[in-house]
Amino acid sequence: MKFGDFEISIVRECTMKLDGGAMFGVVPKTLWNKVSPADDLNRILMTCNLLLIDTGSKKVLVETGMGDRWNDKERERYELRTLVEPAEMLKSIGVKNDQIDAVVISHLHFDHAGGATRKEGDKLVPTFPKAKYYVQRGEWDFAHNANPRARASYRPDDYEPLHAHNQIVFMDGDTEVVPGVWAKLTGGHTTHHQIVYFESKGNKGVFFADLMPTKSHVMPPWVMGYDHYPLHSCDEKTKWLAQASAEKWLVVFDHELEVPWGQIALNSSGKYEFLPLPEETLNAQARTEKVLAPLK
Ligand SMILES: [Zn+2]
Repeated sequence: MKFGDFEISIVRECTMKLDGGAMFGVVPKTLWNKVSPADDLNRILMTCNLLLIDTGSKKVLVETGMGDRWNDKERERYELRTLVEPAEMLKSIGVKNDQIDAVVISHLHFDHAGGATRKEGDKLVPTFPKAKYYVQRGEWDFAHNANPRARASYRPDDYEPLHAHNQIVFMDGDTEVVPGVWAKLTGGHTTHHQIVYFESKGNKGVFFADLMPTKSHVMPPWVMGYDHYPLHSCDEKTKWLAQASAEKWLVVFDHELEVPWGQIALNSSGKYEFLPLPEETLNAQARTEKVLAPLK
């Protein structure tokens, strides 16, 4: 899709399921189950959505998904279905892995950093061989010192090889990654969680990462149980939603199963509403019926 001078695309990396209660925190199941119906194991179906921002001179990938380094037992736990091969992750949009200049990872949890590395024979290598991976230094430090509640979400094989190959750029707070694309610190989900803001020719957009993983999380109090600092998430959502709705930004959700991009509007009862763009704005690989096809 054209976005000012940029070309932006979504690639659906996988479908997976996580516990619905963990995804909606203190929101009662009687409410969230209406918008995200749970299966018989109380899990809800989601996707990992990658965003490619091609500025014309640089190709920036936002997130890397779950990747394919999972054993059968783990795949069953998350009902993980890998939709794209890591060696050719962006093939459906005609982009080769070695064409990526920058990869921004919102935080180092396995559903965001899992695809950052891949197996080549018995070696682990960066999935994007020529890219710099942009990571908050605080997130890196935390991943290496996570307390027992947080530890299960981090897998060193997702990010240590990036460091060994000298491909990480450590950031301390808000950073312009390439002209027109910024990493912006929000905290909340993890202390150093970041989102990606981008702008071209007056068009403004934001990839909310795990600050708002699906369209059902648009209401500020609908915060994930996974969040380390849920009240902070609520405050950050309030702030970003006010700006995004007032200035008609394009918003992108990282785990939304249906069309994951659109706009935010404030409706007549004072609530934020997500207005998705038409399916046709997505490349064929990312269309909802395509994503759901392997499940039927
Ligand atoms: Zn996530």
